[in-house]
Amino acid sequence: MPTTVFEAMSRLAREHEAINLGQGFPDGDGPADVRSQAATAVTEGWNQYPPMLGLPELRQAVAEHDSRFYGLSVDWRTEVMVTSGATEALAAALFGLVDPGDEVVLIEPLYDAYLPLVRRAGAVPRFVSLDPPDWRLTADALAAAMSDRTRAILINNPLNPAARVFGAEELAIVARAAIAHDAIVIADEVYEHIVFDGRAPISLLAQPGMRDRTVRIGSAGKTFSLTGWKVGYVTAAADLLAPLSKAHQFLVFTTPPHLQSAVSYGLRKDDGYFQGLADEMQAKRDRFIGGLRRLGLPVLPCEGTYFANIEITGLGTGEDDVALCTRMTAEAGVTAIPVSAFTPHRPTRGVVRFCFAKQDAVLDAAIHRLEAWLDR
Ligand code: PMP
Ligand code: GLN
Repeated sequence: MPTTVFEAMSRLAREHEAINLGQGFPDGDGPADVRSQAATAVTEGWNQYPPMLGLPELRQAVAEHDSRFYGLSVDWRTEVMVTSGATEALAAALFGLVDPGDEVVLIEPLYDAYLPLVRRAGAVPRFVSLDPPDWRLTADALAAAMSDRTRAILINNPLNPAARVFGAEELAIVARAAIAHDAIVIADEVYEHIVFDGRAPISLLAQPGMRDRTVRIGSAGKTFSLTGWKVGYVTAAADLLAPLSKAHQFLVFTTPPHLQSAVSYGLRKDDGYFQGLADEMQAKRDRFIGGLRRLGLPVLPCEGTYFANIEITGLGTGEDDVALCTRMTAEAGVTAIPVSAFTPHRPTRGVVRFCFAKQDAVLDAAIHRLEAWLDR
C-alpha cells in the first residue's frame, strides 16, 4: 500500500519549513475543560481495560447526543460502541459487516482510508464520481453503481475534501437506493458539527427508513478539535452493531479510558459549545477564502468541514494538482493536498485542498506567502 498523502505532504512541508495547510487538523489546544477532565481521569481514575464496547458513561452520552441533535431514540447498551477513532469504526464496520465478494459503493472524492479497507475486507468497490464545482450526488449516478450484490454504501457527510454537506434531498437518494437493494449505509459523519451558513447537523441514521440499516460514525477528534485523541463512536441497530463489535474486539478491543471519560463530559456540553465550534470554523473559512479570492484564486463553495478547495485549471500553469502542490510547498512555503489523492477511480486533477482549521495568524501568513509567490 502507498504511504498516505497526509503523511507524505506533512513530511514535505517539514522539509521545506512550509506552512502546513495539508493534513486536516486544527492547530489549537482544544477545549481546556475537556482536556482537564482527561487529566483528572488519568491521575484519579481507572486506567485498566475498560469494557469492550466502551465506558457506559460515554455510551450514554453518545445516545443523549444522538437524541439531542437528531431526535433519535437510542439504546446505549446495544446500539452504541466506542472506537479508537472513526478510522477504527470504519475498519470494524467493513470487516464486521461486509463479506468477501460483496460490493461496496464508494462516493468519490473519498477519504483515503476507504478503498484500502474495502479491498482488505475482500469486497469489490463500485464508484460514484462527483464533479466539481458543485459535487452533486444524483439518483442516476448512484443507481448505476448499485447491483443485487451491493452490501453497503459508504458515504461521508459532510464530505472531505469537497466541503459539501448533503442535505435531506441527497440523503433521500441514498436512502432510496439502500432500501431498494436491501443494502446498509456506513455513514462517516465525523464533521457533523462543522457545518456553515445556518445549517444544522444532519445524520443519515435519522432519515426515513434508515434507522435499521445505517451505521453512524462520529469522532471526538473533530467535535472537540483534539484529533490526536482518536476516540470515535458508532451508533447502529443492535443486529448491525453486534457483528461490528466482533471485529472491534480483535482490532483494538478498547480505547483509553481517561479519553473516553473526558469525551463523555464533552458530549454533554451545552448547545452553545457545538454552535461555537461551527461559528469559529466558519469565521476561519471566511477569513481564508476571502484571502484566496483577493489573490484572484478560483475558490469552490464550502458548506462544511475544515477544507477549502481551489480549481487550478484556470491558473494556466499546465500542471496537475500533485505537481502544483509540490511546487507550491517548495516555492511558496505553503502546503496543500492534491484532490486526486481522494479520487482513485476517476482522478480529479484540477483541484487542490487547503485546511483552514488554523490560527488566524497562520492563515494570514499563508495568504501573504501565496501572494508573494503569485507576484513572482
Ligand atoms: N473520516 C474522515 C472523512 C476524516 O476526514 C477523518 C479524518 N481524520 C477520519 C474519518 C478519521 O477520524 P479519526 O481521527 O477519528 O480516526
Ligand atoms: N482526516 C485528515 C485529512 O483529511 C487526515 C487524517 C490523517 O492524517 N490520517 O486531512
